[in-house]
Amino acid sequence: MTRADHDIRTPVVIAGAGPAGLAAASELAHHGIRSVVVEPRRHVSHLRPRAKTTSARTMELFRRWGVADAVRAAAPLSPRWNRRVVFCETLAGGAITEFRDVFGLSAAEDGLAAESGQQVAQPVVEEVLREHLRSTGLAELRLGERLRGFTEQPAGVTCEVVRADGSTYRLDADYLLGCDGGRSAVRDGMGAVLRGSSAPDANLNAVIRAPGLRPAAGAALHHWVVGTDVPGVVGPLDRDGTWWVSLGGVGGSADTGRAVELIARLAGRPAVELGIDVLSTDPWTPRMMLADRWATGRVFLVGESAHVNPPLGGHGFNTCVGDAVNIGWKLAAALQGWAGPELLASYEVERRGVAERTLASAVRNLRASGPERATTADRIQETKAEEFHSLGLVLGYSYAGSPVIADEDEPRRLDGGSSVQSYVPTTRPGARLPHTWTGPGRALYDDLGRGMTLLRPPGADAAAVAAFAGRAAALGVPLTQVEHPTGTDHLLVRPDQHIAWRGRDLAAADLGRLCGGPQRTAHR
Ligand SMILES: Cc1cc2nc3c(=O)[nH]c(=O)nc-3n(C[C@H](O)[C@H](O)[C@H](O)COP(=O)(O)OP(=O)(O)OC[C@H]3O[C@@H](n4cnc5c(N)ncnc54)[C@H](O)[C@@H]3O)c2cc1C
Repeated sequence: MTRADHDIRTPVVIAGAGPAGLAAASELAHHGIRSVVVEPRRHVSHLRPRAKTTSARTMELFRRWGVADAVRAAAPLSPRWNRRVVFCETLAGGAITEFRDVFGLSAAEDGLAAESGQQVAQPVVEEVLREHLRSTGLAELRLGERLRGFTEQPAGVTCEVVRADGSTYRLDADYLLGCDGGRSAVRDGMGAVLRGSSAPDANLNAVIRAPGLRPAAGAALHHWVVGTDVPGVVGPLDRDGTWWVSLGGVGGSADTGRAVELIARLAGRPAVELGIDVLSTDPWTPRMMLADRWATGRVFLVGESAHVNPPLGGHGFNTCVGDAVNIGWKLAAALQGWAGPELLASYEVERRGVAERTLASAVRNLRASGPERATTADRIQETKAEEFHSLGLVLGYSYAGSPVIADEDEPRRLDGGSSVQSYVPTTRPGARLPHTWTGPGRALYDDLGRGMTLLRPPGADAAAVAAFAGRAAALGVPLTQVEHPTGTDHLLVRPDQHIAWRGRDLAAADLGRLCGGPQRTAHR
């Protein structure tokens, strides 16, 4: 290990610059916290597009960092262009059935979210986030480097980083985030284990150029071909003849020639007519796994290092961003001195619940796509709707039951009262603050502070509000106050836009406990 970097100390080291790592660094930067991100991949590869669904919730979180517009500008497909998912025997035939307004692409128009979802390939999002991080001046991206190991002490974490030339150096940090994906070195170093199962066969993804491919059912985001021996899904990456293809169960064996043959069968036309050019193939195995432990005192697993789910439904990358925001603001609060000891511990409690619920939905979606898949319109509608309409899951998840969320007497519901498919806005503690517009193009979210925000109902008792603000100041909790014109309760909203407490009597809000503080024990 060289000595030159020995004394480098940074508040947070992030291992991995996939969606989880980039989002974690973005959230930390949003709170003015520096981080060092180590990532072996120097460049983002557009030939492995992987996630294409950026959910309405992720777009809201991107809006919070000021990058939603940049993501939309970089995306070749606008959310208005197309909102269909089509099922067909082959691409040469008409639709057996279709789903409309899929993936939350009209969530903002429908008044449910401040941002609609966006179809955009993961590498495009990663590039926008890399650029955003550079512009903050707060995150240092060390590309071509990887974390080899770490040791955790009560006062910090010492990381061993390997450069591209094989030399190593040491980085000291207050905290380490393991955003290093399914094969996480951080998880291994923590002694945690992924538990769950994998599908028996790998699927094969491909990126192709096929300008001659014109599905008979018309333009759609996904064309699910269910009438061939090897089923598949085909979708546009742009409007210029570049497509992604996913072929079921053949990832272990298919070479490029076989991929062309199978794609031609999906198309229902001879390969020569289509002029297919396979740009890449990428085998992947659906996995359903959760780490048995997500955190030690100063080390946290974020994203696929903690949970891996089949991508059906398009939640994988989005849950990674949700994890990153959750741990990011809490680390910022700890580093800024206003977090009590329970706040960091609440990360695993809150996000494990979301991961379990998401995994259960993804597994149902996977089953509905297997050998027993539906091929008739009614059965497809019955078994696949949850995959394309999941705003309840995306917007409705709740952190009720967390030690830093006020406990109301009603039964706790991690679904916040929403089913997977339909979102029901609620101000129950734990839920995401329901979105409202406060002016043309201006969302209530845009007025929230970076710390805690108190939303006051009209006519709130000024003395009670002043007393609450005094308590926040005494605890060092940054507090923004906003009038909530349509509210009847006070709402205390966290930096991640989730409601920590609601009520008429502000004196009853135990702010210290809601920030993970020791008052909690005093009240038990
Ligand atoms: C075919 C397919 C389709 C998908 N479709 C969707 C979709 O539509 N919607 C959706 O939400 N999700 C989808 N996903 C899931 C999504 O791609 C993943 O959930 C997401 O990439 C996980 O992000 P991550 O940052 O946790 O991990 P990764 O993306 O795996 O990133 C981990 C990073 O860590 C780096 N790394 C590894 N080891 C080290 C180390 N020792 N030190 C430092 N860095 C290290 C890696 O180079 C990598 O960049 C899909 C996945 C697949 C396979």
